[in-house]
Amino acid sequence: MLLSIAAILFSSHKADEGMFPLSEMKNIDLKKAGLRMEPIDLYNPDGVSLVDAIVRVGGCTGSFVSNDGLMVTNHHCAFGFVAAMSTVQNNYIRDGYLAKERNLEAQAKGLVCKITASYRDVSSEVLMGTQNTADPVERLKIIATNTKKITDAENKSNPGLSCEISEMFTGKSFVLFRYQLLKDVRLVYVPARSIGEYGGEKDNWVWPRHSGDFAFLRAYVAPDGSSAEYNANNVPFKPKRFLKINTKGINENDFVFILGYPGRTFRNQPAAFYKYHEEYMLKYVSNLYDWQINKMEEMGKGSDSLQIKYSGKIKSLANTTKNYKGKLQGFRRVGLTEKKFEEEKDMQKFLQADSTLNAKFGNVVPEINKVYDEVIANAPRNLFFDYIYSVAPTLQMAAALDNYKVAYIQLSSKDDKANYLRNQVPKLRAAYFRLYPQMDPELEKAGILKMIEDAHQNNNNNKVVAVENFYKKYPTLEAREKVLNQLYAKTKISKAEFMGKLLSDSSEAFVKYNDGLVALTHDLNIEMNYFDEIDRKRDGNLNSLLARYADAKSAFKQKQFIPDANATLRFTYGFVRGYYPNDAEFNKPFTTLKGVIEKEDGIDYELMQVVKDLYAARDFGQFIHPTLNDLPVNFLYNLDTTGGNSGSPVLDADGKLVGVNFDRAYTATINDYAWNEAYSRSVAVDIRYVLWTIQKVAQANNLLAELNVN
Ligand code: ASP
Repeated sequence: MLLSIAAILFSSHKADEGMFPLSEMKNIDLKKAGLRMEPIDLYNPDGVSLVDAIVRVGGCTGSFVSNDGLMVTNHHCAFGFVAAMSTVQNNYIRDGYLAKERNLEAQAKGLVCKITASYRDVSSEVLMGTQNTADPVERLKIIATNTKKITDAENKSNPGLSCEISEMFTGKSFVLFRYQLLKDVRLVYVPARSIGEYGGEKDNWVWPRHSGDFAFLRAYVAPDGSSAEYNANNVPFKPKRFLKINTKGINENDFVFILGYPGRTFRNQPAAFYKYHEEYMLKYVSNLYDWQINKMEEMGKGSDSLQIKYSGKIKSLANTTKNYKGKLQGFRRVGLTEKKFEEEKDMQKFLQADSTLNAKFGNVVPEINKVYDEVIANAPRNLFFDYIYSVAPTLQMAAALDNYKVAYIQLSSKDDKANYLRNQVPKLRAAYFRLYPQMDPELEKAGILKMIEDAHQNNNNNKVVAVENFYKKYPTLEAREKVLNQLYAKTKISKAEFMGKLLSDSSEAFVKYNDGLVALTHDLNIEMNYFDEIDRKRDGNLNSLLARYADAKSAFKQKQFIPDANATLRFTYGFVRGYYPNDAEFNKPFTTLKGVIEKEDGIDYELMQVVKDLYAARDFGQFIHPTLNDLPVNFLYNLDTTGGNSGSPVLDADGKLVGVNFDRAYTATINDYAWNEAYSRSVAVDIRYVLWTIQKVAQANNLLAELNVN
């Protein structure tokens, strides 16, 4: 049974943002907004409804479109495992993949899907006991212990489901979600890259767009219907509900809505957090990622296999760096950080005018600012620590080994040691095999050199001692390169067979392992662990401050807010609509096949002959748009979405599938901090383009029949 989250009231019109949790949907006048179906068929806590067709697909969203567990999501959500399946001979990324028979559906290794089965508010249980401590670290420990206790008990009493607690408002409200897991997922169809990712990085986060960013997967379960890992004997999953398709698609100004799993937004964060992101984090990360992308492109030149190997990583870094640059532009255009500070000043005045409110909340903003003054003062050093291991998985593994060794050596009793070996070494082993495929000595060495070079330039407050010591020992670039070459040549961490043995069973062997890389990380770890301790205190402090900040803001604005996106199921609605993104520019809401053809240049935009032929013959079949007199490809709408909404179904007023969400316009990237109708636009691939591609390009009649399209 579904219970409601603590009642949060807000007005039903779309004032500023709208990633509504399921529990809030009852507060929206959906009929008035434009919905034609009964709201109870959209979301019914006590029965089957449209919500049951929505799936979390890894970090993306998808939806069931047949009774046999067929799901539609984005090409870019399938990209990682399709790249992993691809070889120079069978290049599925370049050419696409179609399983004409069920037994040819390829395992999407590592992909787990989940369906929200039910939820309940557990805020008071999670926070129980926190009121008795003033120690910020203790507070976080209590929250973590309570969270684990509740989740363990729920998992026990709900066999077959996986339970997770999500923090809705920092330090304040928590909801337990029960999920049905689907662990055997297979690839049914993915179009060729020249359709699925037409325009590549150039067009990413850009409108007008002409991309067929969609893919079809199928979920399988054990013959008895229970969730199971991949097995050839598994059978297609039978969803409670699947989406019907509106083959006629959608028009400008029509009402549309999305159900999906938006990943992360920061709208309820304070001004000082915005300042830190705008002035430090976003710049640091985009600079680092740009550097990594250039390096991989340089290394991949002339090597097809290296290009395939790096393709997934380049794509994901490029996606982030462009998004961050969009955000940086948005911060300036909106003047967002200053606005936030102004708003907090007004709030402070309001609180101070009322002695009760002042006593309760008067110190919240000043305290938050104090915390962030320190975060900002130490940002360059902390960002170095946050990212150094991400550029070098071998170094990361060396660091993990060092940390485990140190922890083990500190244990004194035999029992504790035996327990540690039994419980922790398997974790270290699992971490190793996760990192192993990403190890790449040449790329890593270059990354380390770049990052320590940057860190060496930090001001005196932000020096990293381990880096400075390294510079003293190896003062020239040549010496640093040489020693890194030696360390990487000597380490056995890159030898899977050796490490597999070292980390097998409950043996103590790993404690005896040492090499130069481990020694290097030992120095880094000492420093990092010291600062981690400080960070934990800060996080504990912020945890209670932010809970009070939300209350203070509610008192000030006389309303409750919607929780930030946190990868839980949300609903958003609005209209298919163009906009004025930039000076002298109006963007219409539909693109067509004409635009696909026009963009072709043979370099950034490559087209398959078949697409050109079909266009020349104006062979759009039943999918032609009556007034555009062309095949609609992508469309634009003013809904509130973010990363994680990739692959979400876009549904019309009757709840029928009309598109697959895959991106936002450049000006909308800032909406993670502040949504606004003037600049927030999301992008979907039109269902007519999906069906046309399946019918005319892939000639996948099996798929069309399953989708009930003829
Ligand atoms: N294309 C985006 C992503 O994958 C989706 C979005 O953020 O709107 O992150």
